[in-house]
Amino acid sequence: MKLTIFGTGYVGLVTGTCFAALGHDILCVDIDKKKIDMLKKGEPHFYEPGLAELLKQNIARGRINFSMDAASAVEYGQVIFICVGTPQKSNGSANLDFVYNVALTIAANIKSYKLIVDKSTVPVGTARNVKKLIETNIKDKAIEFDVCSNPEFLREGAAVKDFQNPDRIVVGADSRKARQIMTELYMGIARATRPLIFTKVESAEMIKYASNAMLACRISFMNELSHLAEVVGADIKEIAKGMGYDTRIGPRFLQAGCGYGGSCFPKDIRALAATLEHHNLNSDILRSIDYVNERQKKSLFPKLKKHLPSIEGKRIAVWGLTFKPRTDDCREASSLTIVEQLQKEGAIVVGYDPQGMENFNEYNKTIEFADDMYSALKDAYALILVTEWDDFRNPDFERMSKLMKGKIIIDGRNLYTPSIIIDKGFKYESVGR
Ligand code: NAD
Repeated sequence: MKLTIFGTGYVGLVTGTCFAALGHDILCVDIDKKKIDMLKKGEPHFYEPGLAELLKQNIARGRINFSMDAASAVEYGQVIFICVGTPQKSNGSANLDFVYNVALTIAANIKSYKLIVDKSTVPVGTARNVKKLIETNIKDKAIEFDVCSNPEFLREGAAVKDFQNPDRIVVGADSRKARQIMTELYMGIARATRPLIFTKVESAEMIKYASNAMLACRISFMNELSHLAEVVGADIKEIAKGMGYDTRIGPRFLQAGCGYGGSCFPKDIRALAATLEHHNLNSDILRSIDYVNERQKKSLFPKLKKHLPSIEGKRIAVWGLTFKPRTDDCREASSLTIVEQLQKEGAIVVGYDPQGMENFNEYNKTIEFADDMYSALKDAYALILVTEWDDFRNPDFERMSKLMKGKIIIDGRNLYTPSIIIDKGFKYESVGR
């Protein structure tokens, strides 16, 4: 099948590359020339494990191409995926300008039947609005088209694997033709164990937000309980383990830490809350999830101050700047909050991240970067661990203790065993233990 993909970000590029690997012919479009120039050379403009290799293979096979020419891109694909960003507006609701711009481009250039697939995360009702917008602006009213919703559930850091082995594929479609095309398109991926689920368009749009909100809710729930665990001498990791064996609960997304971040959870929870409020409904749970998370991002700072009351002029090392490991994405990362708190009180912050330093620098120009995880510790009074990259799991504590001026470790992801670190002579704080 010939597919056009609007947007070559984390979702669009992974979608295009993975469909190319399944034998489809892909044309990816973006408005960002720098990105298209890099992609034409076979280089992804962001870090995602396995993506660069898969992209190169499929460029070599002639299955994927890149362009900025939106008009011919609309003509190219029988199916057109909308994978553009839906960032947060200042009031927390989703900004749909990019989505509607693509809809207008399609309306202006459509010449034959197209199935338009909304893959961006959009508030319920958006697919209907996209349809109306195209109907209103299309020149030849005889041309048929369908709009369906196919939300994406991939996780950055495991995006290729997630796309190829999804837990489920959700498609909200009204028309039989749209369902047939989507069934054929996903034939190479859908299985009994990873089913293609057809729903109403509105349900599909809500499934995406509901799933992200539930996952974020589990994290904020454990983060809230972590404070009680600390006060009463319990251990939140033991609590999570004991809960996780309950088959009604399951073990995933029960890890307490210094808060979730990224381009999805924070904005999606706020957008869902805004949608409820738009319909004059209560959004108490959703607002609390967000509130608890913002509070949690600030929770490591007092733990540091307990051991180091004055940080002015002192070097503090931060390990991990991305919002999670195996990505270079720093959007809404907890590190941004923590680094800001440290700098506000005059600390000299030295950060290290295996992939995220360039992106972090876009948000914070005054942080110093180290070449490797150990150089970040030189003369540091404390280490704050924010992102659980594998590199940080088994560090050389002897070496660390020789490099550091103060022996304080604040572990925002509960990576280490407290008794072991304390035995090595460090002052150690983690979350909920
Ligand atoms: P992104 O910001 O990485 O990429 C969006 C791309 O769209 C950019 O490259 C931008 O230049 C391009 N674009 C904007 N307007 C365009 C236009 N008119 N024509 C062509 N390209 C255009 O965003 P992303 O992280 O890939 O997310 C895209 C959508 O998918 C969002 O709604 C997001 O919430 C959702 N989503 C993201 C993830 C994730 O992990 N990143 C996972 C699931 C769903």
